[in-house]
Amino acid sequence: MRTISIVGGGPAAMMLSCMLDPAKYRVTICEKNVALGRKFLVAGKGGFNLTHSEPKEEMLKKYIPASFIQQALFSFDNDQLQNWLQELGIETYTGTSKRVFPIKGIRPIEVLHAFLKRMQEKNVQIKYGHTWQGWNEEQELLFGHEGKTEMLRSDITVFALGGASWKVTGSDGSWLELFQQQGIGTHPFLPSNCAFRVDWKEELIKAIEGTAIKNAVFSCGTLQKKGEAVLTRFGIEGSAVYALSSEIRKQLLNEGSAEIRMDLKPDLPLAEIEQRLKNENLSVKDALLKKVNITEAQLALIKKHTTKEEFTSPHKLAALIKSFPLRISAMAPLDDAISSVGGIALQEVNEHFELKKMKNSYCIGEMLDWDAPTGGYLLQACFSMGHSLAAHLNRI
Ligand SMILES: Cc1cc2nc3c(=O)[nH]c(=O)nc-3n(C[C@H](O)[C@H](O)[C@H](O)COP(=O)(O)OP(=O)(O)OC[C@H]3O[C@@H](n4cnc5c(N)ncnc54)[C@H](O)[C@@H]3O)c2cc1C
Repeated sequence: MRTISIVGGGPAAMMLSCMLDPAKYRVTICEKNVALGRKFLVAGKGGFNLTHSEPKEEMLKKYIPASFIQQALFSFDNDQLQNWLQELGIETYTGTSKRVFPIKGIRPIEVLHAFLKRMQEKNVQIKYGHTWQGWNEEQELLFGHEGKTEMLRSDITVFALGGASWKVTGSDGSWLELFQQQGIGTHPFLPSNCAFRVDWKEELIKAIEGTAIKNAVFSCGTLQKKGEAVLTRFGIEGSAVYALSSEIRKQLLNEGSAEIRMDLKPDLPLAEIEQRLKNENLSVKDALLKKVNITEAQLALIKKHTTKEEFTSPHKLAALIKSFPLRISAMAPLDDAISSVGGIALQEVNEHFELKKMKNSYCIGEMLDWDAPTGGYLLQACFSMGHSLAAHLNRI
């Protein structure tokens, strides 16, 4: 029987091991932590979007680049994932945001345990406390374990080492250099789906800190997202701005700063807002609050951004409400980000995620250099890659 070593034990690795044929392969997962799926559990503390419910063709458009994931996503899509989870006893439901969650009452640890149970049924061996440290001259895998170095030889190796945020979960990206030393192309890790810094004036912070901007349209470059963001002392965060991460990051890298535009009233045309502001019986402030339904925090933002002349011009004020600019000066630190880009360059793997320069070695999951917004797209991609690779390996 052939042997497979899976290095790293997150969602991509767990799905892969659940899908590999135990009659064909003896599978061992080597994980440096004393438990699998630490980041999976962290994801569970927040929304825990296991996937998104939109049609797979729409889903595909959210990935950058889309081409790398198409085959994997279409061969194990969001519906198939939900059906398979149901087989494991994990029922899901679709929320109003169209994101897919485990039904109420199912805790993240129970989802993890359902995976572990299936892995046990498939005779998957797990070596905990095994930190991969590279290869020896015979191309065997080297692991640090309890102060000693262990060697592991297997017919096939799959790396599923994760990205480089939330280091506390084990996904620290410290393996990047090991691949570079083998001549494998990599990109430095950068944050994605993270908060962005806005250099607010100190006096503004008191008025806006902790307030949410709801039902607005946020845009940056060609990207646009309707939703919610929260203003913080640091800047701005929330799913609607996370979705703009790739464009914000590009502008920050190229120009040193980026610009987000907020349409604070997407359901009101500019002319309608202008009309409502032309109310002679109300002050501008009252017209904004009572007729346009601007919040106090938004009012503070608008005041800080306008001269007296602009504030009293209904047309200019309406234009500002429809396209309020926010200058972004930096991304949050990498470790605070929900996901990272960078890692193994996509050109280094073929359509089955096999390293072109290292036969029988594969890379799946967040360790590859791709990007997607939050909302279930990250986990779906990891599950689809694990599933697709298992299907390929079961065939050969
Ligand atoms: C706060 C937060 C919330 C999130 N919420 C969601 C969500 O709701 N929906 C969604 O789709 N995604 C979410 N994500 C993202 C999602 O959790 C990740 O994209 C996903 O876990 C990546 O899976 P992976 O298998 O590629 O790697 P990981 O889950 O990062 O697992 C990699 C594993 O490899 C191990 N490892 C690393 N280096 C070594 C080594 N040298 N030797 C041995 N083992 C090693 C690590 O310890 C880790 O267990 C969230 C992430 C965070 C941080």
